[in-house]
Amino acid sequence: MKPIIFKSFAITALILFSAGTGFAQDYKELRENMVETQIVARGISHEATIEAMRNVERHLFVPEARRHRAYEDSPLPIGQGQTISQPFIVAYMTELIDPGADYRVLEIGTGSGYQAAVLAEIVDEVYTIEIVPELGETARDLLKDLNYDNVEVKIGDGFHGWEEHAPFDAIVVTAAPEDIPSPLVEQLKDGGKMIVPVGSAYMTQNLMLVEKRGDEIYTERVMPVNFVPFTREE
Ligand code: SAH
Repeated sequence: MKPIIFKSFAITALILFSAGTGFAQDYKELRENMVETQIVARGISHEATIEAMRNVERHLFVPEARRHRAYEDSPLPIGQGQTISQPFIVAYMTELIDPGADYRVLEIGTGSGYQAAVLAEIVDEVYTIEIVPELGETARDLLKDLNYDNVEVKIGDGFHGWEEHAPFDAIVVTAAPEDIPSPLVEQLKDGGKMIVPVGSAYMTQNLMLVEKRGDEIYTERVMPVNFVPFTREE
């Protein structure tokens, strides 16, 4: 038997076993494998991001019935018609804002709270806004249980940003607006970066990297993506 075949057999066996038992140690091995095959192998090189992907227990952020799939290379439903993003996308968006330890970061679209936890492993302060109250409250409780004391969750429409904590070193938007919300650009520090998927609902969107330098705003198209729509409060 070729080693590579054996390896994938071993991983499949591990996944099946983990689904039945849910031992933390099995999840750790699955997570380690996710980091090597989906994150490092695809070129993510920002050390703190890789370390955060190793540390955050993604299976705790997905509904119990889907835990055995938590380390697969795909987004997963989290209820209310929303999804937790694919692990690679979470790592890639994190790396693109080049987060420093002393950063204050705003996230729009808390969802499960997973991206917020990844950011919280790296930076000083994370502020995150979720428009669906049930999701925001569940994420807030989970992040508190996991001792992410540097994350604050607000329920509301992220279009307006979070004025009282602005300006931000970086902003991560995880739902797709048709245009970049101008309040978010305003709340970015000079030299700050924002990563945002832009485009119509359910069509391919473009992940855009926005940089503010003085009065100038630079935007760069990074890759085609598929995010849930950025919704607005009535
Ligand atoms: N970052 C999340 C991904 C969630 S999917 C995670 O790690 O799990 C995107 C989320 O954005 C959804 O939960 C959706 O309800 C939320 N959302 C959509 N429009 C929003 C808005 N205007 N303000 C805040 N959240 C919004």
